[in-house]
Amino acid sequence: MHFQWYPGHMTKARRMMQENIKLIDLIIELVDARIPLSSRNPDIDELGKGKARLILLNKADLAEDRINDEWIAYFKDKGYSAVKVNSKKGGGIKSIQSVIQEACREKTERDRKRGILNRPVRAMVVGIPNVGKSTFINALAGKACAKTGNKPGVTKGKQWIRLNKSVELLDTPGILWPKFEDQEVGLKLAFIGSIKDEILQTEELAAELVKFMGNSYPGVLEEKYAIPEPGDAYECLAEIAKSRHCLVRGSELDTEKAAAILLDDFRGGRLGRITLETPEK
Ligand code: GDP
Repeated sequence: MHFQWYPGHMTKARRMMQENIKLIDLIIELVDARIPLSSRNPDIDELGKGKARLILLNKADLAEDRINDEWIAYFKDKGYSAVKVNSKKGGGIKSIQSVIQEACREKTERDRKRGILNRPVRAMVVGIPNVGKSTFINALAGKACAKTGNKPGVTKGKQWIRLNKSVELLDTPGILWPKFEDQEVGLKLAFIGSIKDEILQTEELAAELVKFMGNSYPGVLEEKYAIPEPGDAYECLAEIAKSRHCLVRGSELDTEKAAAILLDDFRGGRLGRITLETPEK
């Protein structure tokens, strides 16, 4: 699940993106609803210049719905088509085809004026690792017909999934690199588990999550783990260890284990719906 980026990966990803982008009309960009900005690729706007754009706020089920709606408004305000989805359960998937049509309306209109009728819109899914690209493609393709096979002018091996008579989707998503340079962003990416927990040790990472929860969702951890209000983040991990009977050598509190439990509960949505960043006003 974790993916470590090296310069070689980035060069390859960029090259593939530049190659694929020539074939498509619409970029379907998946972001994580819990961190819609931090989970974007830093160069996507430049790479996708001139293409129709659709942003999917995926894993919407894990984020606060009120803030999901704020993010949708934020992206629409910036000129993107945007919609929230839950690819795992299929929430929002049904309406995607009409959203795709809508996102490409200008292009379809242009085609029509030139006398090009019924040329299907070609789309491609992109996003950083673990945002749910494969899950989304499967959810969408599950309802669609079989692959259309290779076509002239398409690099050998590229497969198009025909969603309906007017939309075709490239079957493999474009995997793009996240923003590395910003510490805050790195922390949020580590919270949701989309980059290796290497920037921080598990306990440090969990301690940062405890601090965030204390500020933005006070009382949630105390209730979830039936613990008293802790003095600081490490005390909180110790309380969780106590409450969950995480012990080493029979008696010592295993805060490392407690940290792993906390991160796992957060990532699995078991702390409730939590959004890590909100649109700036
Ligand atoms: P990819 O690396 O972008 O292709 O991501 P995957 O499709 O492999 O998904 C990564 C993980 O996120 C998997 O465990 C999926 O089950 C999970 N996932 C994908 N979409 C959703 C969603 O909308 N909600 C939730 N809760 N989990 C999701």
